[in-house]
Amino acid sequence: MISPSTAEVYTGLGAVACAGLVAGAAAYAAMWPGSRIFGKALVAPARPGELALTFDDGPNATWTPRLLEILARHQVRATFFLLGSRAETEPELVRQIAAEGHLIGNHSWSHPNLSRSSSSRVREELQRTQETLEQRTGVAVRYLRPPYGARRPAVFRIARELGLMPVLWNAMTSDWSETSGERIAQQLTRAIERLQRRGRAANIVLHDGGHRDPNANREPSVTAAGMLIERYMATHRFVTVDAWS
Ligand SMILES: [Zn+2]
Repeated sequence: MISPSTAEVYTGLGAVACAGLVAGAAAYAAMWPGSRIFGKALVAPARPGELALTFDDGPNATWTPRLLEILARHQVRATFFLLGSRAETEPELVRQIAAEGHLIGNHSWSHPNLSRSSSSRVREELQRTQETLEQRTGVAVRYLRPPYGARRPAVFRIARELGLMPVLWNAMTSDWSETSGERIAQQLTRAIERLQRRGRAANIVLHDGGHRDPNANREPSVTAAGMLIERYMATHRFVTVDAWS
C-alpha cells in the first residue's frame, strides 16, 4: 500500500502532525494524507510549477490581518480553511479574506478528530461552519480540510452531501510549534523541491491561528509565508485549491 510517493508525502507531513493519533492500520487509512482508501480527496496535481498556500485554524485577530497584508503586497491569493467558531467571533475578517480574493474553505466548527466523531456530530460541525461562512461572505463554500487530515467513509459521505470536497496536503512542517520562520521556510522549501522533482504541485499547509489557543504566536508561520512568496514568486505560480478540481 505504501508507494514511494505516499512515503514522500508522509516525510513532508512530519510525524508530529499525527503524533499520538496513528495507532494501527485503520488509523493509517484514516489519517494518512496520501491515503485514498476512504474516498476522493484533493491533494495536488501533476503541475510542478504551481504552489497553493493554505492556512488552517483562522481567522485570528492578530495574525490573519498581517498575513493578508503580505499576500496583498505580493498580489498572491491563498486558501483559508476557517474554523466556524472563530469565524463567528471575527466576522469582519471573514469578509475581508473573501473580499481580497482568497478562497475560503471549511475546517469544522471546533476542530474535533472527525474520524472519531459520530455521524451526527460530523454533520453538525460541518454544516454549522458552512452556514456561518456562507452567511458572512455570500459565497458558496466547496472545500473541506478535515482537522488533522482525519477522515472515514461517513465523513466523505456527509461532506459530499454538503457539496464539500475534502482537501489534504503534501507539504507540511510543524509550523505550529516552530519558533523560527526561517526554519519553517527552509523545511517547506525542501518539500517543495522534492515535489517539483517528482513533477507535482505543492499543497502547503501553514497555520494563522491556533485551534487550542487563539493567542498562540503565529509570527513564525506568517514570516515563513512571506519568505516562500519572495523565494518563488518569479518562478512559480501561486494558486488557490479550486484551480485543481
Ligand atoms: Zn487545524
